[in-house]
Amino acid sequence: MKLCRFNRDRIGLVLGNKVSDITAIAAPLIARQAGPGDALVRALPELQETLASAAPEAAIPLDSIRLCAPVRWPGKIIAAPVNYRAHVAEAHADPGIVHGHTQTDIGKAGLFLKANSSLAGPSDGVALRFPDRRNDYEGELVIVIGKGGSDIAAADALGHVAGYAAGLDITLRGPEDRSFRKSIDGYSVVGPWLTTADEIPDPDALELTTHQNGHLRQSATTANMVYGVARLIEFASSFYTLHPGDLIFTGTPEGVGPMSVGDVLKVEIGGLGTLETVARAHEKPSAAHVPSAA
Ligand code: MN
Repeated sequence: MKLCRFNRDRIGLVLGNKVSDITAIAAPLIARQAGPGDALVRALPELQETLASAAPEAAIPLDSIRLCAPVRWPGKIIAAPVNYRAHVAEAHADPGIVHGHTQTDIGKAGLFLKANSSLAGPSDGVALRFPDRRNDYEGELVIVIGKGGSDIAAADALGHVAGYAAGLDITLRGPEDRSFRKSIDGYSVVGPWLTTADEIPDPDALELTTHQNGHLRQSATTANMVYGVARLIEFASSFYTLHPGDLIFTGTPEGVGPMSVGDVLKVEIGGLGTLETVARAHEKPSAAHVPSAA
């Protein structure tokens, strides 16, 4: 099942190049959820069961909607810093990437957190800040946690996955702490939709490509990850209790590079579709337009 959020507050089932608006079916299931995490992801098993017998008709063309991030309220966004060896090598060779940060293996480096306010969907675009500094794209496989837990064994880990999506871990390069630079509003793009785990039996064998303005920049397979999906979940949950809807960015392969305003970025992952987004310049809201409840 491919589940999207679109046009601000609609929930959709993606069928080929069309979308069925299932908001009315999902809303009562979501309303019943309580507890930490994302309510739609919590309701997902029930929703899948309901949709299996309901078979809604898909009428809305995909290219006519605005795609939001498929998970609206992840409790946390976890990310892997150095999970492809060839990317570690390119980072070491480029002072514009490392900025004096020690890049090491993932077991020693650990994982890091991106603020959940950095989450964006494909149609939101990426509002680049500090255009005089280097901003990089990083195409990545994103895990969406379904069943929460702590100290999850790798052998059980895939049973805790709701699904997968493509992601862009946008990164401001520089001397500051990694979480600070990678948590800018809109710097965690996820999409185009959530593909449920039952459609992806082996997440460690997916082809991943990133295109920038039509040019191929990254081409890899998730088989090259140092820590595969199960081990990442084991590692993350040995430090943090995972909740439904938590996201894990699994790290980027080689081929990262700087991006500019106007760039079109596409991350395509086998079976998960293509996340496409456009970079624009960040504009400071005028004082009169800052919402008081923000
Ligand atoms: Mn990354």
